[in-house]
Amino acid sequence: MIKMFKGVWSYPAYDFVGGPEKVEEMVNRLASYGFNLIIPAVKDERGLFVFKTSRGKRYPMVDEWDPLRKLVETAHNYGLEVHPWLCVFHEGEESIFLEEHPEYRALDIKGNPIKGNWACPGELEVQMHELELYKEVMENYDVDGVHLDYIRYANIDMCCCEKCKDIDKKLGIRLNELNRRHPKWPEWVELRIKNITTFVKRLREESKKYGLDVSAAVFSDYPRCMVNNGQDWVSWAEMKLVDHLFPMTYTQIVKEVKAATKNHVAQLKDTDILLAEGLAPWIPLKTSILIEEVKIAYLTGADGVIFYHYGSLTDEALESIKEFEEQI
Ligand SMILES: [Zn+2]
Repeated sequence: MIKMFKGVWSYPAYDFVGGPEKVEEMVNRLASYGFNLIIPAVKDERGLFVFKTSRGKRYPMVDEWDPLRKLVETAHNYGLEVHPWLCVFHEGEESIFLEEHPEYRALDIKGNPIKGNWACPGELEVQMHELELYKEVMENYDVDGVHLDYIRYANIDMCCCEKCKDIDKKLGIRLNELNRRHPKWPEWVELRIKNITTFVKRLREESKKYGLDVSAAVFSDYPRCMVNNGQDWVSWAEMKLVDHLFPMTYTQIVKEVKAATKNHVAQLKDTDILLAEGLAPWIPLKTSILIEEVKIAYLTGADGVIFYHYGSLTDEALESIKEFEEQI
């Protein structure tokens, strides 16, 4: 019998729509299957918040009760940990920050806002805004850690805001001429990596003050994400900036999970990071495929798995995972 690390991403605005009793129901269910960690979206992809902050719009439920506080209390009663999840540079369509500061909006090569409404990671003011949100959560809630998501550039086209264009010009780069054979390509890639890693360092410094862990959802395709998205998560692990890494290996192809996990395990072998493969029943996946993926991820060397997301986890899947843990 084994006990894998098991976590789940959750959307409180949907999972707890029935009120505080839904929190108890969820935590009880996860605890009975031996889960370790719940990651609730408290600043989601739309840019809406699940805690009271003056820095953004919130879901109406937050004015009626405090879903995050209730979740933390209940999870602790059952022995589970909670890492609130904030989408970092993906500010979302409902972002008040970018409405008030359009100058910080990340732009593509044509000068259009990046789809999803992103903020420019190279701007100090953007980094400070995102950091303040984490600080509010760490200060006001008895959480076990904090979770990073969208901690990257959207793509190769980002960012062409006025400030980034100035920096690129100084480097001798015009983004529309840039490609992998351009002599300045390595400098440009490094610049983007530095901007993203700087934020992770800043969060680490703050999290240390509260004695909290840092976890991150990262792209599965390392090292490509380092080049395309500025997301060098292996270096974060080597520098001890994070404690848990969750590569989002969202696929229906079991062999892909095996190859990706093999790579992640090898990349992190000299670190003491907890590695859990992010799997997505949400795609959707047949339960049989999901279970194969869970098995292959664990048997290939990951410490466990984490599911995207709670709303798509069936009892059938949970039972099958339990059987697997009991069999070996
Ligand atoms: Zn920019």
